[in-house]
Amino acid sequence: MLDHGSVDDHGSNAVEQLRHRMRHSTAHVMADAVLRLFPEAKMAIGPPTQDGFYYDFEVSRPFTPEDLASIQRIMLETISETHPFLREEVTREEALSLFSNQPYKLEIIDSLSDTETLSIYKHGNFIDLCQGPHIENTQDITAFKLLNVAGAYWRGDEKRPMLQRIYGTAFESQSYLDDHLNKLEEAEKRDHRILGRQLDLFTIHEEIGPGLIVWHPKGGVIRTKLEDYWRDIHYKHGYKIVYSPHIGRSQLWETSGHLDFYQDSMYAPVEVDEQQYYLKPMNCPFHIMIYRSDLHSYRELPLRIAELGTVYRYERSGVLHGLMRVRGFTQDDAHIFCLPEQVESEVGDVLSLTFELLEAFGFNDYSISLSTRPEKYVGDLDMWEHATQSLGNALDTRDLEYDIDAGGGAFYGPKIDIKIRDALGRAWQCTTVQFDFNLPERFDLTFQNAEGGRSRPYMVHRAILGSLERFIGVLIEHYAGAFPLWLSPVQAVVIPIADRHIDYAEQIHSQLEQHGFRVEVDSRSERMNLKIRHAQLQKIPYMLIVGDKELEQGTTSVRLRSGTDMGSMLLADLTRHMDEDLTS
Ligand SMILES: [Zn+2]
Ligand SMILES: [Zn+2]
Repeated sequence: MLDHGSVDDHGSNAVEQLRHRMRHSTAHVMADAVLRLFPEAKMAIGPPTQDGFYYDFEVSRPFTPEDLASIQRIMLETISETHPFLREEVTREEALSLFSNQPYKLEIIDSLSDTETLSIYKHGNFIDLCQGPHIENTQDITAFKLLNVAGAYWRGDEKRPMLQRIYGTAFESQSYLDDHLNKLEEAEKRDHRILGRQLDLFTIHEEIGPGLIVWHPKGGVIRTKLEDYWRDIHYKHGYKIVYSPHIGRSQLWETSGHLDFYQDSMYAPVEVDEQQYYLKPMNCPFHIMIYRSDLHSYRELPLRIAELGTVYRYERSGVLHGLMRVRGFTQDDAHIFCLPEQVESEVGDVLSLTFELLEAFGFNDYSISLSTRPEKYVGDLDMWEHATQSLGNALDTRDLEYDIDAGGGAFYGPKIDIKIRDALGRAWQCTTVQFDFNLPERFDLTFQNAEGGRSRPYMVHRAILGSLERFIGVLIEHYAGAFPLWLSPVQAVVIPIADRHIDYAEQIHSQLEQHGFRVEVDSRSERMNLKIRHAQLQKIPYMLIVGDKELEQGTTSVRLRSGTDMGSMLLADLTRHMDEDLTS
């Protein structure tokens, strides 16, 4: 049961832990400042995040940029006053009276179990209900900045009050903070929602529904090229590619357990011929039915069933975000059914395939984690042991570094998660390789063993890119919209300088098209510079300018989107250059 990847980073090293404590402490100092400026403000929660921190407040009006400046000024004063952060344990009654004026804190206290130890942290006159940990002293907050404000529902629930969330960040040095702020600025320029519109790749419409993507022709090219490549490489790795429907009967989801464990993420059923059908949140049961539609001998295993399978999952409207968090998405999904002795090599091959596939997009910096058996689990202990060992061995033989998330596996099997780092150094969860000891039992999957008896196969779920929507979102930001030639929706634009060059431009166009390139002619009666500018904004890799000289010599003047002027080239030289560019 592959989950849609999340992007939180549980930083485990010392620097990450220091940042975590410092950011959380900065959030306290910020809440202190907010309460001094807005004594009526109600505090909700203020955790550290992967890149900074936030705090949610209920206030009578949204915070303005001027408010942020004032809050920041008071924070600087507090920091210079060198208040220690002091921890104290309190009883439930003490906590209820300390926060009697803070309804969100009261709600949090009420939601905690009786056995939980309640603690507060103080600095100066400010007190927060808090588990910590914190840094020692406000003065240890070295460099921070408040970034922006956004509305956020209490508990992420649109039926609860809309709060005002202030985002900020803090670092152990001013230069790290400056780097981070530069990166944020760069990230804003690369926002896939803005580039998606500018490059005419996709849109999302209220009329269709939030979180549902329509791909425009240019986005369609990127997706087709990516899918073609995906299919090729999967066939090479011995996968069988299948297709399955978007809906399935309730009985299927009862057997799989989805209706028991996953219904909150599923859409209400539709009724057909008095039978209930559910939109699929996962592809697994369909691939299992393919496996089950035949008797399998041990000689036929492993069986690797792959699908670009579109699934639908409910996500709160408040968390939907462009292509990154959607309600309908296509997983590059596969399920491997294999013998115990094949487990390690199968995992190994998934890893090889993963790195081969991701490197095609220029990703080569990974962070990998191995999640092991949690306290509550299903399946046989020996199988867990064998599967976990195999995951570790497959990573070790490749000399890959990884963190172990002890007890972090799903109840049905251990897994490997792989995050990629993009051009801005941001981590994105993509790949998951997940064992499953649950579904083979539920669907009673077997194979005929060498002795003629029945045995249970091992089953592995895996997705490499994760979801195509999200992965293309990551690619848009990674490339800043300047896709490599093989993925570029339009690979070259021919720009006639004057109307009398249009015929020649059309000739070049059709010759390049016959060569297999995606080419357009910009025959608008605009100035050449404007057409070049337009092509640059569209991030078109090749601009081919044709005027009198080119017409006479049978050449084109070639400019790259990078600004490089390649001078005039014969068509044969140009296509050779472009062919090389395709594979580089
Ligand atoms: Zn706290
Ligand atoms: Zn699956």
